[in-house]
Amino acid sequence: MLIDSHAHITDAAFDNDREETVKRAFDLGISHIFEIACEEKYWDSALDLSQKENIFVSFGIHPHEAQNATADDFKKLSELISSKKCIAVGETGLDYHYDFSPRDIQKRVFARQIDLSISKNKPVIIHARKAIGDIIAILKSYNRQFNGVIHSFEGSLKEAQFFIDMGFKLGVCSIITYPKCGDIREVFSKIDISKLLIETDCPYRAPQNYRGKRNEPSFVIEIAKKLAEIKNMSFEEVCSKTAQNASNLFLENIKK
Ligand SMILES: [Zn+2]
Repeated sequence: MLIDSHAHITDAAFDNDREETVKRAFDLGISHIFEIACEEKYWDSALDLSQKENIFVSFGIHPHEAQNATADDFKKLSELISSKKCIAVGETGLDYHYDFSPRDIQKRVFARQIDLSISKNKPVIIHARKAIGDIIAILKSYNRQFNGVIHSFEGSLKEAQFFIDMGFKLGVCSIITYPKCGDIREVFSKIDISKLLIETDCPYRAPQNYRGKRNEPSFVIEIAKKLAEIKNMSFEEVCSKTAQNASNLFLENIKK
């Protein structure tokens, strides 16, 4: 079992070969793909895509899009989250690297989606870019445990521990394959495998061997290989353990 726990296959980057890309991943042994639909314009196509076997979907509003979110969007989001193959809310969060939406609006839209994840009893997928301090402050204000993942985690060991203590898993993406990213390899080497999920975040951030190219779900194999090296485990063990973590977090819930 090997799961790409975070992909954006409805992105226009796959318009010419979406079917083939998905098929290639499954042919290479990827067992499940979790599609993250975090812009209103992708929601309907992601819902369609999730009709396929072994593809599941998360719906949310990305911090980049926060200022465009309307009352109708929230209404539709709430309905979509109740759909049969929806595994989570998100990705949502804060992005102070690009600051595409004003920060106060990002915070408000983030909090609304946390509320939604709690009321719908679905995990939350969090995007935290140059904003970990404020994310931690918002989560703390809830004074409770969470179900979810900090996707493409790139913080410190201390921050990692904070999120884990709150109930979160951490998403391991392609950055662990980049020569210059030794710090994050060091962090993950110290975190128990039971807390980690692997993800491509495709079409963004291709692994080192494909750098500059479009990323795709089958490349999750590269990330698993690197994580195996970092954790001093076999490739098979990394695949099955991270897949089990992803399945426990996201799939158990929807079987009920
Ligand atoms: Zn993403």
